[in-house]
Amino acid sequence: LGPTITIGEILVEIMATDRGTGFLEPITLIGPYPSGAPAIFIDQCARIGGSAGIIACVGDDDFGRVNVARLHADGADVSAISTSPEFPTGSAFVRYRNDGSRDFVFNIARSAASQIDLTAAARALIARSGHLHVMGTAFAIPGAIEIIEYAIATIKARGGSISFDPNVRKELLGQSETRARFARLVDIADLILPSGEELFVAAGVGGESEAVHALFARNASEVALKRGAKGSTVFTLEGRRIDCPAFAVEEIDPTGAGDCFGGAYVACRRLGMPIEQALTYANAAGARNVTARGPMEGAGTRAELDAFIAMTPGRSI
Ligand code: ADP
Repeated sequence: LGPTITIGEILVEIMATDRGTGFLEPITLIGPYPSGAPAIFIDQCARIGGSAGIIACVGDDDFGRVNVARLHADGADVSAISTSPEFPTGSAFVRYRNDGSRDFVFNIARSAASQIDLTAAARALIARSGHLHVMGTAFAIPGAIEIIEYAIATIKARGGSISFDPNVRKELLGQSETRARFARLVDIADLILPSGEELFVAAGVGGESEAVHALFARNASEVALKRGAKGSTVFTLEGRRIDCPAFAVEEIDPTGAGDCFGGAYVACRRLGMPIEQALTYANAAGARNVTARGPMEGAGTRAELDAFIAMTPGRSI
């Protein structure tokens, strides 16, 4: 029916090479690394062999160019990434503390991502796409909301499907507008991919099984629950539960694991794979990505993920 598409922020990440607290003294930084949850998702989707495209806006600068070049090289449709003549590509500076938490300095709110627009190229991509993946992070960008609504209407009218990653920033959920948008997505998504506590936020009830059933009572027919280093579980409307243990890896950089998981899962399901196979690829994609420094540096092609899975005794695809 056409490519999987997503809508939202593209930025670069610049990281401290050493762990520690904050940026209050000169430290060594490494980057820029292509980033932004929708960019990571669509990159993994394309790398594993899914047809994929993104609607976004970057600045007329090298931070934008490094992202577009990466996504294009990995096979994503970049025709609907516009360039702002005025605003720079956003950036996030990150430093890991010794306890694994992170300090950030963001330059995103007034970046090119805020200039995302329903351009002719965006309309053309939406018109030929078969699946929309909505990322909660896009709710922070006013211009993205209109495009999401247009894409939902167009893709649904074509008989396409919708997935939702409810990774909405907690502080935004305090706003009634964002909560309403969030609820609307839960009401129309066919597949929901929450991480940890997001399941309860999406469902509005506690208890894993109660929450999953509450989502099925709305619209979803599949829920893929991400559990970090504990792996993941897919629940289906028909009552199936498929658990997938995580692949044991050394975690270098957890950023992007959930986005790679989602990109691989959606791509594999749309390629016609059964849940078990798609879920194994998704877990492998998430695990492989945390072994590399940089938000999408560990995203894998199908061959790379096959090799990664084959390295783990007792696991196969
Ligand atoms: P999010 O980034 O959305 O919070 P998770 O951290 O749950 O998502 O990661 C998504 C998936 O990536 C997990 O379900 C798991 O399969 C894989 N993953 C994440 N972290 C690790 C890890 N440390 N070891 C192995 N697999 C991991």
